[in-house]
Amino acid sequence: MAAGAAVSAASCGGSGEPVGRGAAPRVVVIGAGAFGGWTALWLRRRGARVTVVDAWGPGNSRASSGGETRVIRATYGPDAIYTDMVVRALALWKEHAAAWDDRLFTETGALWMAGDDDDFAKQAVPILRDRGVGFEELDGEEMGRRFPQIRPDGITYALHEKGAGFLAARRACRRVLDAFLAEGGAYREARAEPGAMSGGRMREVSLSDGSRLEADVFVFAGGPWIAELFPGFDPPLVSPTRQEILYFGTPPGRPDLAEAGLPVWVETGERFFYGVPGSENRGFKVADDARGAPFDPTNGDRSPSAAAIRAAREYMEFRFPAMAGAPLLEARVCQYEQSPDGHLIVDTHPEAENVWIAGGGSGHGYKLGPALGEMLADQVLDEREKEPFFSLDRFAA
Ligand SMILES: Cc1cc2nc3c(=O)[nH]c(=O)nc-3n(C[C@H](O)[C@H](O)[C@H](O)COP(=O)(O)OP(=O)(O)OC[C@H]3O[C@@H](n4cnc5c(N)ncnc54)[C@H](O)[C@@H]3O)c2cc1C
Repeated sequence: MAAGAAVSAASCGGSGEPVGRGAAPRVVVIGAGAFGGWTALWLRRRGARVTVVDAWGPGNSRASSGGETRVIRATYGPDAIYTDMVVRALALWKEHAAAWDDRLFTETGALWMAGDDDDFAKQAVPILRDRGVGFEELDGEEMGRRFPQIRPDGITYALHEKGAGFLAARRACRRVLDAFLAEGGAYREARAEPGAMSGGRMREVSLSDGSRLEADVFVFAGGPWIAELFPGFDPPLVSPTRQEILYFGTPPGRPDLAEAGLPVWVETGERFFYGVPGSENRGFKVADDARGAPFDPTNGDRSPSAAAIRAAREYMEFRFPAMAGAPLLEARVCQYEQSPDGHLIVDTHPEAENVWIAGGGSGHGYKLGPALGEMLADQVLDEREKEPFFSLDRFAA
């Protein structure tokens, strides 16, 4: 591609059939993570001519979607909007996993364990009941009997969400992009830079290969890089934080410590630890949900820290006694792309009505991908109103 050449996204795939009121719009989606990938797929299915651009590829090791596994659960405290999205997302995950013949979702159930502070799980109870999400409530003693591999000390309340589980995170990003390509989408591996905004619109993005890409609509789903793509916001749209994921080795022949015999678990309270047993044979995953130090997603040092390993081991050995002395098999450093209030951002840029920003997954966004992409595709194509809960207005002083 000649440096400086402007290419229309329309020339990069898509059948060009009309949608809505006019000709099929040309859309460029920046980012092939959980948010961008699913949005592009839905846009393509709605007839738009879509090009995805990603600097390093779907589910790459720097991306927030780049881990082995991500939890999916409908328990979301008082926030019914997320429970509704998860119900839709889970149906879509299952439907696509079956259609693609790929085990992207593993149903293990999810166990929320709480001591003094059980608000989060208990606030979700009426919402789960209302939405028909299957769950049971247990006291600490009952939980200990049901799950003898868990030491129940200090747990007074547990919520067992039966249909929850985990998703094959980075693998699914690749799968979604493959489907998007098979359905007529186009893909460029390059870094995109937003173009100038004038007259309330953006006309093009420039790519790191020196070319430019014109389109009618741009969707920036750059995860933790949204902060540097759009630096002018106060507070910053997202703040990347350093998060460590540790995989410990179970003793041999212990399915009760793997996905066959143990749900995904979460312990709320003073510390918020969570884990995914088995994790597609990577090991017994343990992570601390507390927001870590600010992190540079491009060049940040991803070596695990001794302090995180020590804290995870101490917690794990207390709560799961059979894991005492377990070897550390793998460690990953990722980042949350934390929005100012921990909720998603799905809105147009205040200076350009054809520029959408989708991000702020804040440690919980992955599971929502298919439902978010479906919603956003409709919004981009003017077939659905913006969702005020995810608007940028909420940060206005
Ligand atoms: C350790 C950890 C555990 C988590 N656990 C869970 C969980 O259990 N359940 C859950 O639901 N969620 C979880 N999350 C959150 C979830 O993973 C993220 O919210 C979600 O993956 C974000 O997806 P995204 O598409 O917004 O961002 P990303 O996955 O980061 O994708 C952004 C993409 O944009 C590309 N990009 C960025 N800038 C540019 C540019 N200028 N040009 C071209 N390409 C660009 C990047 O290469 C990247 O591929 C977790 C996150 C982490 C880090």
